[in-house]
Amino acid sequence: TMRLKDKVVLITGAGSGIGKASALLFAGEGATVIVNDLEPAKGEETVREIEAAGGSALFIQADVTDPASVKAMVDTAIGRLGRIDVLFNNAGISGVGAIHEVEPDVWDKVMNVNIRGVYLPCKYVIPHMMERRSGNIINMSSCIAEIGLARRASYSATKGAVLALTKSMQVDYAEYGIRVNALLPGTILTPFVEHYLRTSYADPEEGFASIKRRQLTGELGRPEDVAKAALFLASDESKFMMGSPLYIDGGVVFG
Ligand code: NAD
Repeated sequence: TMRLKDKVVLITGAGSGIGKASALLFAGEGATVIVNDLEPAKGEETVREIEAAGGSALFIQADVTDPASVKAMVDTAIGRLGRIDVLFNNAGISGVGAIHEVEPDVWDKVMNVNIRGVYLPCKYVIPHMMERRSGNIINMSSCIAEIGLARRASYSATKGAVLALTKSMQVDYAEYGIRVNALLPGTILTPFVEHYLRTSYADPEEGFASIKRRQLTGELGRPEDVAKAALFLASDESKFMMGSPLYIDGGVVFG
């Protein structure tokens, strides 16, 4: 049987990487997927791939940092599909540099996409979930919320914030039948990580090798590895999980 039959799922940043892999997996499990991305070409491609596989999806462009844009997306989704059962706050950007290397405008951008970009979809979706006394929210944190990695100051701060926010939200909304959990991936091979490798190592090949060594598997994760964990959180199989961090990190260790 399909694990997300009749569920409506909104995934932010679903035009690439983990969000895209999750959109494809969820649609294959019977969900109707609202594919959000900042970039229409990428989001529309995700929808095309879902439809080609016989699934159901709808692209809605929105910038998760912009209240008017997020509110319009949620209104359109509710107008078209009647409800949102699962909100997966996946969109995020990388931030490289130790504190003294990070310029204020770059700091603000990372805070905006990675924290405000979780807050705003929650703000506009949760009232609908409260009204229905049912909902499921998955927030994208990272294993970096709990371990120190070099030159990742802004990014670490945002992912720690998302984990704390997840726990706080869970307390506020448990009485409305809303679950809120967090994903903590290790290093997953996506365009996001390829960009990080290209821009932060003098020798990207050596950078790649050092990141592999940091994980007990000796290999990076794949977007599908995280998508499967997200599917578990999105389904009722995880109904006894509330405010929890779920690690998908290949046994990451300090490097
Ligand atoms: P990715 O860059 O492949 O995909 C992110 C998508 O988000 C892109 O399609 C991008 O266009 C979209 N996006 C960016 N800003 C947006 C905005 N303002 N509004 C709407 N969409 C926006 O990245 P990924 O590696 O798949 O990462 C997805 C999430 O997983 C991020 O939150 C990231 O921090 C987190 N994460 C990734 C890894 C990893 O190793 N790849 C590890 C831990 C956590």
